[in-house]
Amino acid sequence: MFCGKSEELIRRLRRAEIAGQRALVVKPLIDDRYDVGHVVSHAGAKMRAVTATSSEEVRRLAKGYDAIGIDEVQFFDLGITDAIGALIEDGARVVAAGLAQDFRGLPFGAMPTLLCVAEFVDKLEAVCHRCGGPATMTQRLVDGEPAPFGGETIQVGALDSYEARCRACFQPGVDAARLAHTG
Ligand SMILES: [Zn+2]
Repeated sequence: MFCGKSEELIRRLRRAEIAGQRALVVKPLIDDRYDVGHVVSHAGAKMRAVTATSSEEVRRLAKGYDAIGIDEVQFFDLGITDAIGALIEDGARVVAAGLAQDFRGLPFGAMPTLLCVAEFVDKLEAVCHRCGGPATMTQRLVDGEPAPFGGETIQVGALDSYEARCRACFQPGVDAARLAHTG
């Protein structure tokens, strides 16, 4: 989060368009209060996007395009790996951007599989909100405190509830159930 992945996705898809390819950006429909018709980066870059609620829908919407960008790919169901595979079989180039870890530091959705099967992987780093070092983790805060481990995973980014953190500054949230479990 805040590592510029949407920015990078937009940049790559723009290049495909400039090269005369039919390009499409798809994103999951999670929060329709946000700009549903666009992918918007934190730096302000913007590109038209369509929303999909399932991997099956991604496959259907993206059929016939040369270059397909999928943003927030971690929020799609696990079928997204096969959907991307099918689009590649059809001759498309797929650029998927997503968060590798959720706020607990656990692998997020289909990301571990995608990272494994992708031809090319670029792991982008954000800047740690605490120390300014390279950040690879997402700190979720609820009222300024680390979110409980058992909290809902899906809450689309807002500056007041998520921060990029480095491993040293990351504070895992602890909840009652987990405390009981670990004794
Ligand atoms: Zn730090």
